[in-house]
Amino acid sequence: MTNTIRYDRGADGIVTLTLDDPTQSANTMNRAYAASMTATLDRLEAEQDLVGVIVTSAKSTFFAGGDLPEMIRATRADAPDLADLLGTIKRDLRRLETLGRPVVAAVNGSALGGGLEIALACHHRIALDAPGSRLGLPEVTLGLLPGAGGVTRTVRMLGLAGALTTVLLTGRRMRPADALSAGLVDEVVATPTELFEHARAWIAANPHPAQPWDRPDYRMPGGTPASRSLAAQLPAFPATLRKQLKGARLPAPEAILAAAVEGAQVDLETALTVETRHLIGLLTGQVAKNMIGAFFFDLKAVNGGAARPADVDAAPVRRVAVLGAGMMGAGIAYACASAGLDVVVKDVTPEAAGRAREHAERLLTRAVRKGRTTEADARAVLDRITTTDQVDALAGCDAVIEAVFEDPALKQQVFAEVLPVLAPDALLASNTSTLPITGLASGMDRPADFIGMHFFSPVDRMPLLEIVVGERTGDVALARAFDLGRRIGKTPIVVNDGRGFFTSRVIGKFIDEAVGMVAEGVPAASVEQAALQAGYPTGPLALADEVSLTLIQRIRRQFEAASEEFRPLPAHRLVDELVDAYDRPGRAAGRGFYSYDDGTRGRLWPGLADLSTDAGRAVPFTDLQERMLFAEALDALRCLDEGVLRTETDANIGSIFGIGFPAWTGGVIRYVRQYAGGPAGFAARATELAGRYGDRFTPPADLADRLDARRAEPV
Ligand code: NAD
Repeated sequence: MTNTIRYDRGADGIVTLTLDDPTQSANTMNRAYAASMTATLDRLEAEQDLVGVIVTSAKSTFFAGGDLPEMIRATRADAPDLADLLGTIKRDLRRLETLGRPVVAAVNGSALGGGLEIALACHHRIALDAPGSRLGLPEVTLGLLPGAGGVTRTVRMLGLAGALTTVLLTGRRMRPADALSAGLVDEVVATPTELFEHARAWIAANPHPAQPWDRPDYRMPGGTPASRSLAAQLPAFPATLRKQLKGARLPAPEAILAAAVEGAQVDLETALTVETRHLIGLLTGQVAKNMIGAFFFDLKAVNGGAARPADVDAAPVRRVAVLGAGMMGAGIAYACASAGLDVVVKDVTPEAAGRAREHAERLLTRAVRKGRTTEADARAVLDRITTTDQVDALAGCDAVIEAVFEDPALKQQVFAEVLPVLAPDALLASNTSTLPITGLASGMDRPADFIGMHFFSPVDRMPLLEIVVGERTGDVALARAFDLGRRIGKTPIVVNDGRGFFTSRVIGKFIDEAVGMVAEGVPAASVEQAALQAGYPTGPLALADEVSLTLIQRIRRQFEAASEEFRPLPAHRLVDELVDAYDRPGRAAGRGFYSYDDGTRGRLWPGLADLSTDAGRAVPFTDLQERMLFAEALDALRCLDEGVLRTETDANIGSIFGIGFPAWTGGVIRYVRQYAGGPAGFAARATELAGRYGDRFTPPADLADRLDARRAEPV
């Protein structure tokens, strides 16, 4: 088996172990690593006059973590084998920390998951403050738990509550300075030279170290579950977790909590075994596979350019014109300037345009306060944003992103105004959330350069960019929009044109279904609770208020005017009554489905019950959840059929990152594939829902066969 750990003994008696898997660009905790570590420990234990050990890496990333392709394939039959492998890995890390000689982790790059777990088994951890370097145990975000001692050791280092809240349940990827304040590393240094100098100095000063938990006077910070103070808090842990998860039942956080609490009550070796048992439960279950599929493989494919036209040379964008300094325009300008691009923002008055700089200033002040950027860098970002009410100020921009009101005539007018002053080959992009791109481009001189770049609100936090290709959009425009999206750190999915594209159209079905249930008489609180427990990050009624009911109404009326496929729904009546009869247009006004005090969401409006046809109607809880999930999934299937969606990967990524489809599903099409009984089971359940609630749930004919025939996703 390949050796993945280089072993160099220096004249000073210090052995440097360099993690360096020659077969991969990043080190992972695979079988080759396990075998290499065993051989390394055999050798270390046989050393004469060993002075100390430094563990470092030859890669820019210290160590990447678990072997995800292997994990995603794991079945129940593999459980004994996996337990064996994890046992070996843990036994060797234990041998390392009980070597009797100082072992220092010289963490020269990101150490996430398995990488940090190796470092935690060292007596002292020094992290290099390398650009982009992150430390943490992000397993929970992949539906897993840190199973190479991560749960066991962080609980012993930081205490049960500390480990759970700062590291294990958040999965936070911390910058070295934050890892230092969290207590995960002992030192942060600025240069590689210092990294090794400090490591050697620590070895010299600590010839016989032991881990805190191996010392006779060890006490777990905050006490063990047997101690009175912690025992009194313990019963509240599951309830707090459930609250954090907004009622959703997710296997990984629950397993992490169980492994941490059970592990804190027993000796270290037993705790490590408990941890393994819980990890194997997760590894052989479906949720971890869904999440690894989406959050690792799909994301890599999308960000890697799967949807970018290959071999198209596209000049990179340098100077961006943003039209409209509203919520979206200001957010887009900030994102571009943060990525080093010059931005000129135009609105109808200098004051209105100036809001873009104010927005950036607010975000930058916060970033400086939190230590995420320096004063000088913040100033440089701000200096890249110019604001104006003059068309001429956009001269020479090589891209324009339009974000004025959602009005086709206004959008066409602003493009006509700016086209003469832009660079002749400028990329022309609209941030419309629903209007078909082909229609907007009609009458324009350069339809091949015209494209949709649909951002999500708030732009600085939402990672998705939905690129919309109109009938006449050219490959160069697509490549340039894609590259611009990547440059500003977004995850770009690429879809074909249609009203509402993929994301707005599908999220519309979610809101319609939820509001429809309220109109039927289902208590609004039950609808919200059902969605949260299904794993949606926000309840649909809160979301509708956020979007604004007036906008929902306007988009629906545009659809009604433009399409013969429009069908009136009970949800439409309810929204109209809320807006027109009761003046409850949404969050911005302080009144919608909820009431808002000083911008904070308060209670659901009690008057809702009077607007329904059958108040207090009981619908089985599973039906409440599945009506929302199925409404979205069925429309996503239609988007695939109609060619709006080009790939299942785009559907899965777009649904999670753009519109909050529950992350545990691994995305909306994976949800269909993984439903009990597979696509056929999904189709049968959809037929049942259609019988009960209406033919919008009728599944596409031959769904199972057609999904089988589609090229299976890389999972
Ligand atoms: P907004 O109302 O906050 O901002 C619109 C801005 O456009 C205003 O500042 C207005 O003064 C300006 N404007 C109007 N006419 C102009 C003109 N002739 N020249 C320059 N500026 C002009 O709207 P928003 O929420 O930022 O939405 C803008 C666009 O983005 C819409 O097309 C919307 O559908 C889309 N969008 C919105 C969201 C969202 O969540 N709000 C998400 C994605 C896309």
